[in-house]
Amino acid sequence: MADEVKKRPKIIPKQIPMPEQDPIERGKNFNEVALGFTEEQALAEAQRCLGCLKPPCVRGCPVEVPIKDFIILMQEKDFIGAANKIKEKSMLPAVCGRVCPQEDQCEKVCVVGKKFDPVSIGRLERFVADYERQSGTKSKVEMASSTGKKVAIVGSGPSGVTAAGDLAKMGHNVTIFEALHKPGGVLIYGIPEFRLPKSIVASEIDGLKDMGVEIKTNAVIGKLYTVDELMDDFDAVFIGTGAGLPVFMGIEGENLNGVYSANEFLTRTNLMKAYDFPEFDTPIKIGGRVVVIGGGNVAMDSVRTALRLGAKEASIVYRRSHEELPARAEEVHHAKEEGIKFEMLTGPIKIIDNGEGWVKAIECMRMELVEPDDSGRRRPIPIEGSEFQIDCDIVIMAIGTNANPLVPQSTSDLELNKRGYILASEETGATSRPGIFAGGDIVTGSATVILAMGAGRKAANAIHKYLVGEEDEELSGNGDNPVS
Ligand code: FAD
Ligand code: SF4
Repeated sequence: MADEVKKRPKIIPKQIPMPEQDPIERGKNFNEVALGFTEEQALAEAQRCLGCLKPPCVRGCPVEVPIKDFIILMQEKDFIGAANKIKEKSMLPAVCGRVCPQEDQCEKVCVVGKKFDPVSIGRLERFVADYERQSGTKSKVEMASSTGKKVAIVGSGPSGVTAAGDLAKMGHNVTIFEALHKPGGVLIYGIPEFRLPKSIVASEIDGLKDMGVEIKTNAVIGKLYTVDELMDDFDAVFIGTGAGLPVFMGIEGENLNGVYSANEFLTRTNLMKAYDFPEFDTPIKIGGRVVVIGGGNVAMDSVRTALRLGAKEASIVYRRSHEELPARAEEVHHAKEEGIKFEMLTGPIKIIDNGEGWVKAIECMRMELVEPDDSGRRRPIPIEGSEFQIDCDIVIMAIGTNANPLVPQSTSDLELNKRGYILASEETGATSRPGIFAGGDIVTGSATVILAMGAGRKAANAIHKYLVGEEDEELSGNGDNPVS
């Protein structure tokens, strides 16, 4: 490898920086933070790729996007060809180019990264996907002839969308049932506009409709129909209902006005368009001082959304140190640039009432870190006598989520784990019920867009085998091989 790097003395050691909106300006609007590469910048970044013989980046990608091949097409200025190459493996390139944690996946193993900054694979993926969309060119999707089999997909997040696209390409008749009024799952209701514009998600989902996939919104499975009823009309069902059930801390004062779960806060902003006031008069409290509890991507999205909605002060309260923050480093960096405050090593113990049923402050304790817990991260313990208060008007809980319970609980004989997630094979998505498959966050717990897509793809392949008669023992739903 070192030889490969040496043979290209002109390789630019640093990544081409991503143009971004000014931090002060962007804190006042919901426009996208990262502006995207120009053609010149994209070409310069693509030239940093060595075109490795056995590219480790591809193995680092959960859906094995042909990274080397698409970057070589970019080097030849064939951007549409590059977009088509990515689409062989990914239904959502403009989404993944924006929100995938590439630093922990493909870019982590990029050969150039051993000596210099790794190639900015995500930014290049975003560039070609945007280039294709803006050029108005629609890549041709190879569709198999109809098998006459019908598949129902429950949930339109990344796992459901990927499974739907792959199954449609294989010639099956696919219908998606989505509880909300817009398809896209967390991509639409959770991740804010300034990180992932909704028009981009909508355009990638339009690709599904072009492939003949029917999308039924406002269709809550478990209420409108059960999965058992769907099995009467369809030959197979894929469940990709996600992990959107909010978790609270169980501390005093959580029922006060002004306390939100991150999901509720983000859904009101994104899906119910609170960001478009006064055009949309969505019920949400804005302004004042906002405290967000948690340190993951969801916490960063919530605190940066609160800032943009007009918070006087917006802070993160996290019980561990900066080192343990689970959010992407880029998001933390952006939050700091925008003036978000970070109260680290701080654990909330009580939310305080203003006497009229609204939040007035949050009482916390300082924490110290001791030996690692089961998660491998150092465990925080409170420092005795360190209680103090942070004055605030809004508290947002972003400490994690649980399985959406409606489908697991309303489907007969579906095996669940102790935490209510569906037991399904990691390789095929097969559940304890023949013909019913599952994948994404409803199986793994909260994870990432690309892992959910990978699960949707594996399940689509298994459903295809099941439908065309290449059924193996595991797909028949014997439940011997499920993982949680
Ligand atoms: P989801 O995206 O949760 O979709 C499930 C869908 O099923 C939803 O549309 C839901 O309405 C629908 N549904 C639920 N119950 C029913 C029912 N009974 N009937 C019909 N439909 C139903 N990951 C990253 O990789 N990068 C990020 O930057 C990132 N940021 C995130 C920010 C936030 C705020 C959140 C909440 C998550 C973030 N994630 C991120 C995680 C990622 O979005 C999820 O792992 C991924 O969306 C899971 O996909 P899924 O298909 O399993 O489920
Ligand atoms: Fe090699 Fe990195 Fe290019 Fe992949 S992106 S082919 S690992 S140089």
